[in-house]
Amino acid sequence: MERTFLAVKPDGVQRGLVGEIIRRFEDKGFTLIGLKFMKVNRELAEQHYDVHRERPFFAGLVSFITSGPVVVMVWEGEGVVAAARKIIGATNPLSAEPGTIRGDFGINIGRNLIHGSDAIETAQREISLWFQEEELVSWEPSITPWLHE
Ligand code: UDP
Ligand code: MG
Repeated sequence: MERTFLAVKPDGVQRGLVGEIIRRFEDKGFTLIGLKFMKVNRELAEQHYDVHRERPFFAGLVSFITSGPVVVMVWEGEGVVAAARKIIGATNPLSAEPGTIRGDFGINIGRNLIHGSDAIETAQREISLWFQEEELVSWEPSITPWLHE
């Protein structure tokens, strides 16, 4: 089953949006299989954003992500990687559509509330970076027959 990695960034935690953000993925019908509340160290933040290492915003991004607690999650479901990116919205919240998380709650690219894996391979890399296998719980929600034909 397809899985994606999501993180509520320090701004989302500080603004009290953890419940709201989780609710959107629950409401859609995806399944939560991993969840941690944690303060991120520099090494993990740099590995997570390794692809952006040469970009001008990298240092600021790493110091922001390590500045306060985050909520990291793994969600499961058919098409969850691409669907989560749609639920999250465009990177710049000012361009993100209303109805998306960034479109509804953000105004600045450096405070865009949530991270979501951008592809299936990226999701696999990020899940193994942030979670041990035994921290993920496979379970069958009782609502499944009402979500799937
Ligand atoms: N970012 C930034 N300034 C930029 C571009 C990106 O601060 O000009 C930050 C922003 O927090 C973004 C993250 O870097 O979420 C990763 O950038 P990416 O292009 O991967 O966006 P995402 O996948 O998060 O939509
Ligand atoms: Mg990205």
